[in-house]
Amino acid sequence: MVGSINVDLIAHVRRHPRPGETLHGSGGQTLPGGKGANQAVAAARLGGTVAMVGAIGTDAHASVGLSGLQAAGVDLSQVREVEGPTGLAIVTVAQDGENSIVVIPGANSSMDAGRVSAAGEMISRAAIVVCQGEIPRSGIEALPSLITGRFLHNPAPVMELDPAVLRASDPLVVNEHEAALVLAQLRPGAGSGASMPDAPDEIIRALRGAGIASVVLTLGAQGSLVADEDGVHRVPAAHIDAVDTTGAGDAFIGALAMGLARGDALLAAARLASRVGAFAATGPGAQPSYPGIGDPLPELDDPAGPAGADHALGARRTSTPG
Ligand code: ADP
Repeated sequence: MVGSINVDLIAHVRRHPRPGETLHGSGGQTLPGGKGANQAVAAARLGGTVAMVGAIGTDAHASVGLSGLQAAGVDLSQVREVEGPTGLAIVTVAQDGENSIVVIPGANSSMDAGRVSAAGEMISRAAIVVCQGEIPRSGIEALPSLITGRFLHNPAPVMELDPAVLRASDPLVVNEHEAALVLAQLRPGAGSGASMPDAPDEIIRALRGAGIASVVLTLGAQGSLVADEDGVHRVPAAHIDAVDTTGAGDAFIGALAMGLARGDALLAAARLASRVGAFAATGPGAQPSYPGIGDPLPELDDPAGPAGADHALGARRTSTPG
């Protein structure tokens, strides 16, 4: 895992403050977060062997940021301490459920090409290297030449990247919003107007057509689509009562990485990921809501009936239903 380690500072308010206004709120908890750390924790809790390449600051938040990774048994030998603050996300949650978030990258800004290359030996040994968009562009762009395994790329948030780096993704994992931004980069002449596909299956075909070997397009409670050389497949969501979808997308990606690392086909890994993402949406917060090996996962809302073979998390899948 090459990515961000943050602390999430949560404030609950009746409504968001107006510019210049001071409001009373509640909450104030600090929780471990950051897309990189979240995804690493999700994969490790499911039994994956995970190492983190990342950075924390020299402030009191550093230990909070590392706490979930430590509890999940993630290898932290390539997490560097750099002078200054740990990455911080200040999350304000209003009573109507609308969030506003300020992200301060802090130590994550140090994850440039030099720092990522310094972890090159670990990166080259990994079966799956996962990365998101919460570290500097140069750090992400240094990855393809170091990777000998598979590059699971979740460009969130999307930034301008060398198209060759986008095309090295296998799979690229994006939601619809991110997919549109990535497509615009890969097809610069096409603009963002009428020629951009709307329907999810058209979007995923367009990404494949733009030269990406495999793509997973996540669709929230609608599940996801998977595309590779075998075609486009729909992965249903699991029916759950969502409590808090924070970090559900990261749980999905951590599980996808774990599935691929143990040898699952992409579709099988995405089916497991869909159940893990749904599980994460049934509990509050990000990392605290992630399942462990023994936790019963919700079944997919599968028209073909429940996929019995993928019930046991610890078991290696031998077939790819669906
Ligand atoms: P992101 O937060 O990155 O936009 P999504 O919201 O698409 O990601 O969620 C990722 C995956 O998690 C989905 O494809 C789905 O499998 C699962 N998921 C998320 N929200 C729900 C939900 N409310 N019910 C069931 N599954 C969900």
